Amino acid sequence: MAKGTDCSGTMVRSHTVSRARYLSIVAEENHVLQWQHSPWAKTKEEVITLQPTGINVASTFNGFCSHHDTQLFQEIDNAPFCATYSQIFAQVFRAHARELYCKQAQILSYPDPADIADFHGLENPENYARGPLAELESTSMDVGLRDTILHHERLQAIQNAKEYHRLRSCVIPLSGTPVISTAGAFFPDFNATGKQLQDFTDLQSVLNSVHFSILPTETGAYAVFSFLDTEAIGPENFVFSVIEHKNLTDMLLWVAFTYIENTHVRPSWWNALGKVQQDAIKTAMGYNMDIRDPRLMTIAEYPNLGFTNQMAGKPFWL
Ligand SMILES: [Zn+2]
Repeated sequence: MAKGTDCSGTMVRSHTVSRARYLSIVAEENHVLQWQHSPWAKTKEEVITLQPTGINVASTFNGFCSHHDTQLFQEIDNAPFCATYSQIFAQVFRAHARELYCKQAQILSYPDPADIADFHGLENPENYARGPLAELESTSMDVGLRDTILHHERLQAIQNAKEYHRLRSCVIPLSGTPVISTAGAFFPDFNATGKQLQDFTDLQSVLNSVHFSILPTETGAYAVFSFLDTEAIGPENFVFSVIEHKNLTDMLLWVAFTYIENTHVRPSWWNALGKVQQDAIKTAMGYNMDIRDPRLMTIAEYPNLGFTNQMAGKPFWL
């Protein structure tokens, strides 16, 4: 993923959330809980579940060689978080590289009709084609990748010019025992009050991204929203609607569970949560996963539940 360099190294596991600095803080006996997809599960409840995962593996992807992983991200791996422009950019860039990597992998692994027919021993497999729903799914993935590549190129231009201040960020300090870490990006569709921000059905328009991470510390955590100065429409409105919410801390967890599958959970916190809270979080994770049952206004559907005793401090912008 280190494009435009003369990289020839072997790929290693890159942590999108620094293992030593952030992930280990929410781990217990070196394990966190991570979302796992089991497409052949027997019941609907077992399709998406939180499962224990070792912190050597959790949040990783095979996107960089060890040289570039060390060189590009030393600022976040080797120093405490202090909300500098360059540190936030490094965190954003690493998590976004994973988003791009996963979107490409998703398209590569999408089955070809001829291959499926051949697999099942059907005659003339080349005569099979996708149905309308599969065609729509395929087109949607292509459009998502198109916008993700464009956004990634914009991030790389900022990196090359070292114009890290072009990323606008809102940082919310949290106090109290941290319960999750998260790092990812998404296209905000609706804000926290249900106002539509971007229209996913318009396949011609390029969507704007917002980055979100929750970075645990020994005494709390930092929640960080970031977006590009040239992609502020939508993302800025989204962030304001979240930080103005009366239950800001729980809302920050809700955003992570609604939009970012690269979320890692403290096992004892999850096990002590009530069933109502657990079910709400599983529902949030399931939003928009089923193409036959797309649900909108996802963060506006926050069920007014308390998830954590952490306290949000005053948000600040940079
Ligand atoms: Zn490299």
